[in-house]
Amino acid sequence: MTHIYLDNQATTPVDPRVLDAMLPFFKEDFGNAASRTHSFGWAAEGAVDRAREQIAELIHADAREIIFTSGATESDNLAIKGVAALRRDRGGHFITQVTEHHAVLDSCKALQRRGFDVTVLPVDPYGQVEPAAVSDAIREDTLLVSIMAANNEIGTMQPLDEIGAVCGERKVLFHCDAAQAVGKLTIDVQALGIDMLSISAHKLYGPKGVGALYVRSRPRVRLVAEIDGGGHERGMRSGTLNVPGIVGMGAACELAGAEMAAEGARLRGLRERLKTRLFDNVDDIHLNGHPEKRLDGNLNVSFEGADGESLMVGLEEIALSSGSACTSASLEPSYVLRALGVPNRLAESSIRFGIGRFNTEAEIDRAAGRVIEEVGRLRDISPYSGPKKRKS
Ligand SMILES: *Cc1c(COP(=O)(O)O)cnc(C)c1O
Repeated sequence: MTHIYLDNQATTPVDPRVLDAMLPFFKEDFGNAASRTHSFGWAAEGAVDRAREQIAELIHADAREIIFTSGATESDNLAIKGVAALRRDRGGHFITQVTEHHAVLDSCKALQRRGFDVTVLPVDPYGQVEPAAVSDAIREDTLLVSIMAANNEIGTMQPLDEIGAVCGERKVLFHCDAAQAVGKLTIDVQALGIDMLSISAHKLYGPKGVGALYVRSRPRVRLVAEIDGGGHERGMRSGTLNVPGIVGMGAACELAGAEMAAEGARLRGLRERLKTRLFDNVDDIHLNGHPEKRLDGNLNVSFEGADGESLMVGLEEIALSSGSACTSASLEPSYVLRALGVPNRLAESSIRFGIGRFNTEAEIDRAAGRVIEEVGRLRDISPYSGPKKRKS
């Protein structure tokens, strides 16, 4: 039996059309985009410029506001530490929230060690931050608010427009980790009042190891670079550009922009189909995250009495995740689910289904059938005493 990939929040396959766009830049067009003295360099530079425009267009920015990085982790680090570094030893205050990716949370922790204050806001049981709580947390010395667009584990979308409005009124910078959202949801940095936005190519059917940070130019957001060197990317990020990766990211963004509406509707259909199958056939099943304000391709559920790790072992032919991939090396229950108030017992029995562009209805049906079967089997052999199947 062929394997089914349902872990599209961890990473997505490269779209074949994206790969086609990249290939020439590994072969004949291998030039360094910084080489000004010959046509090899000009070809690479032209391709990078085009990608910058494709990415900028998707988020309603200007091409000059895109800084290429190695991914959203680096973009998050640059946005947060880059603002802090301007302050030297004068300190200041940062605001974030508890279900952020580790790239944001750990960057904030690093700042705390350097003497900055950090407020980590709580979320409601669906995983949303209250915009009024952001407003209440803002102080005289607040430099930056960092709130993600959509969560990688539970898919919950944050009220970015309201948070952006609060930040705009109070004149603090607003950074958004949109690794899960760009190419899936309409993200307009102008309308949302976002000053910096982190993007990752491999979450939207582009290659791994490339990303971008949008940095507003009007009014100009000032940052200190994390990586010094040849002064690439207007001094914000030195290092020879990953031209094939950048070309792939640009192509992925253009495709996503063109296909987003239709693809979103299709993914939502598949997600609801999976959800209905599971909820109709398994008792004591709980949805984690927001019932509506969530990524179209995300379903996160807990099966009472069926350990998530054991489930995944039993479902070896289906690529799933429990908790986030970044922390699945440890057997700690997910910090995201804990922040929602999900009891440990249920957090440990949670599974994330990440449906993507290349999944089919037949795969969803096969996966649902196997999950239903496996939950039943685990409950039969475990001390779980609740109802096993509604329909026998
Ligand atoms: C994947 C992800 C990241 C990290 O992105 P990389 O490009 O893999 O470094 C950061 N934030 C969120 C929300 C993510 O989903």
